[in-house]
Amino acid sequence: MSVPQLKTKLPRVGTTVFSVMSALATQHNAINLGQGFPDFECDPHLIDAVSEAMRQGHNQYPLMTGVPQLRERVADKMAAIHGVRYDPQTEVTITSGATQGILSSILAVVRAGDEVIVLEPCYDSYSPNIELAGGLPVPVRLKSGSFDVDWDALSAAITSRTRAIIVNSPHNPSGRVWTAVDWDRLAELIGGREIWVLSDEVYEHMVFDQKDHVSAARHPLIRDRAFVISSFGKTFHVTGWKIGTVCAPAQLTAEFRKVHQYTVFTANSAMQHGIATYLADAGPYLNLPAFYQAKRDRFAAGLVATPLRLLPCEGSYFQCVSYADVPVLRDLSERECCEWLTREIGVTPIPVSAFYSSPAEQQTIRFCFAKRDATLDAALARLAALA
Ligand code: PMP
Ligand code: GLN
Repeated sequence: MSVPQLKTKLPRVGTTVFSVMSALATQHNAINLGQGFPDFECDPHLIDAVSEAMRQGHNQYPLMTGVPQLRERVADKMAAIHGVRYDPQTEVTITSGATQGILSSILAVVRAGDEVIVLEPCYDSYSPNIELAGGLPVPVRLKSGSFDVDWDALSAAITSRTRAIIVNSPHNPSGRVWTAVDWDRLAELIGGREIWVLSDEVYEHMVFDQKDHVSAARHPLIRDRAFVISSFGKTFHVTGWKIGTVCAPAQLTAEFRKVHQYTVFTANSAMQHGIATYLADAGPYLNLPAFYQAKRDRFAAGLVATPLRLLPCEGSYFQCVSYADVPVLRDLSERECCEWLTREIGVTPIPVSAFYSSPAEQQTIRFCFAKRDATLDAALARLAALA
């Protein structure tokens, strides 16, 4: 008997650009400023806290919703930073990374035929997640060049079938940051409709120049309909740990947990206990803006000596640049440009076009500056050859 041919549920999905570019970087021995992850170690106290949790026997299934002490610490942190108290019992859930938080939020609210607005360029998991839920991703492009929200286009995209919108601030890849005014405008547009908000805030502690991270949690109307998604992987330099949180009002959390319970059931125990202990000190995350701002500034100062043109970076750990003024690059597609820089210069960026569902060439590429100063300096020394 012949084996049936499996028909893919995700015909447009291949290997992610992050995996492809990381492999290319390795192949050419290039400095990898593509995929977003730190090349430095996390705080040894965090390792100690997790190791200690393992030694103390926190090695079996924790509660489905997450370790209570960690949920309390997360609720305290949200209250201290945003002045909003989520109930750790009914409104905070610990997830296996933000990626799982995003997928489970989508599966909780999106039904077959529902439309979900994504602001492109956007993180690559959103649209396939929406499709897995039977929904239809509706891309609305941020304005070319500035990556500002095109409010007219967003308003025009809302229909009676719109069930959710995904917002990401600080934004990957552009580094733009939402203000209170942006949330007000969104609230005006969706108020009175059954439209849920997924607020991907994984770069919440990387906002620069004394600006504030305005969480969806701060806006009363938005908060009541929002899943606020965070990642300890980003905040504590441990992207490989895949651990995060979702804060949402009780009615949303109840549905979220039904999905969470039957996808991962819970997130790993020792890391939850270790992070709960580590969170007693606010220093590490309160110092993060200054830590990353210094890296942004170091990298930007070096790039000024090249013909690459810097775009504003208000937050996140990504710096976008335009290569429109670089004769040797300007006729290349973004993908070709990244390949060329990997091969010829030995530095690997990511094409911003990879964050769109349809062709979008803006001569713009993204560098990750979550790297040791020595790595950034070495990359800058190589990029200087462009001058
Ligand atoms: N959202 C955005 C915008 C991201 O850049 C990332 C980074 N991978 C994630 C979500 C996923 O976070 P995590 O590693 O915690 O799943
Ligand atoms: N969020 C990371 C980035 O944008 C990549 C994570 C991944 O490889 N899936 O670079």
